[in-house]
Amino acid sequence: MSRLVAVSNRVADPRNAAAGGLAVALGETLNATGGLWFGWSGRVVEAAQGGTPGEGELHLHHAGDITLATVDLSREDHDAYYLGYSNGVLWPVFHYRVDLADFDSGHLNVYRRVNQLFARKLAPLLKPDDIIWIHDYHLIPLASELRAMGCGQRIGFFLHIPLPPPPILTTIPQHEWLMRALFAYDLIGFQSQADLEHFARYAQSEAGAEPMGEHRYRAFHRTVRAQAFPIGIDVDEFVSLGKGPEAQETYEMMMAQYARRRLLLGVDRLDYSKGLPERMKAFQALMAQYPENRSSATLIQIAAPSRESVDAYADLRRQLEGMSGAINGEYGELDWMPIRYIHRTTSRRRLPGLCRAARVALVTPLRDGMNLVAKEYIAAQDPDDPGVLVLSRFAGAAEQLKEALMVNPYDIQGTAQAIQQALHMPLAERQSRHQKLLERIRAQDVHWWSREYLRTLGEMDQG
Ligand code: ADP
Repeated sequence: MSRLVAVSNRVADPRNAAAGGLAVALGETLNATGGLWFGWSGRVVEAAQGGTPGEGELHLHHAGDITLATVDLSREDHDAYYLGYSNGVLWPVFHYRVDLADFDSGHLNVYRRVNQLFARKLAPLLKPDDIIWIHDYHLIPLASELRAMGCGQRIGFFLHIPLPPPPILTTIPQHEWLMRALFAYDLIGFQSQADLEHFARYAQSEAGAEPMGEHRYRAFHRTVRAQAFPIGIDVDEFVSLGKGPEAQETYEMMMAQYARRRLLLGVDRLDYSKGLPERMKAFQALMAQYPENRSSATLIQIAAPSRESVDAYADLRRQLEGMSGAINGEYGELDWMPIRYIHRTTSRRRLPGLCRAARVALVTPLRDGMNLVAKEYIAAQDPDDPGVLVLSRFAGAAEQLKEALMVNPYDIQGTAQAIQQALHMPLAERQSRHQKLLERIRAQDVHWWSREYLRTLGEMDQG
């Protein structure tokens, strides 16, 4: 079995319980193959401390049989590569928000410089028959930089965020350079069939690619395989977390506090892709159109702080504070507040309890690569008395989770109607929908995802 080399912007020790989904997914194969995980150390070195652009220091650590290799970034590199290009251009445009993109060409040069730095630091650590799996939009050009240094190993890429259709993708001045860089990979994985179709359309219309049989495309003098591999969660881990003391305590506390009420739950990173203002508007419309829910339905919206130094995120935070205050002012009673808006991260151990106590989950992003909260909510439910998932048709998860109540989050009245339907859905219908949803997230869990991806990449010819 070839050694797995995983590369992602952030690196975590898979032995750490809080390391996250990717660490769980990769940990098994990294362990079994004595693998290497490479990425940014999370450290920003100021110029005064010797943080020279393009010259990050390499650190090597061992986590059992796994080697963790990380590189520091100078302040200048970090700000332009991570905040400027990755999160100021690629994140908004790939989430269809061209209006929020800041197409500053200086950022592109640094994005490229950091990818070159990573290639320079990684290449000497590689062995000829390694399998290299590179993750996400921060690192699109990494394979082409490695190829330029003579690396002939099999290299795969997985895009965790959506890929927009050509009319949106081509607003990025450097779209051709980015897509050409994708063709340096052997296997490109997308979250959904829709993303894959956008890739195929771009390849054909902009790069003159001919489809070459199933999943294969040839352009820029290279042939790549591209396929959808929807990422899942570790269902068993989430279920067992739900049996732990913190989750139980949270569940009981919520049930006691909301005994006479119906709880609706939103759990997100505070991000403009998540459709949070639209969600609050839909909740407000529910109060207006279905007054029987007043003094009863309560929305708990937890929004974890994220990328706070980017202006669009600070604006959104202010908007949500204003909206939740206004809705509470309009509909609140002495003993009932319609919205509890919490700008904080919830402990992962409490999350399953919170999900189980909620009669309805509102997962209504305007655009999302997958959305794992939708899957976590399903995993946390009591199969005998499950809650209802209200899901945006624009989340990658919508391709799999067909039995959710599907909404268009831009349609405020339609979303309010779906919430009303969810709040009053009969038990038998809740059970049958939940059972099918649970089967699906079990069949395509995070272990399935990494196994399928690595099997496909492993079966490809080298060079
Ligand atoms: P994204 O990767 O865009 O943040 P996902 O839904 O795919 O969205 O993944 C988010 C992960 O982070 C999930 O595992 C979810 O439980 C967790 N998470 C999101 N928001 C919070 C929060 N406010 N508190 C705790 N965990 C959160």
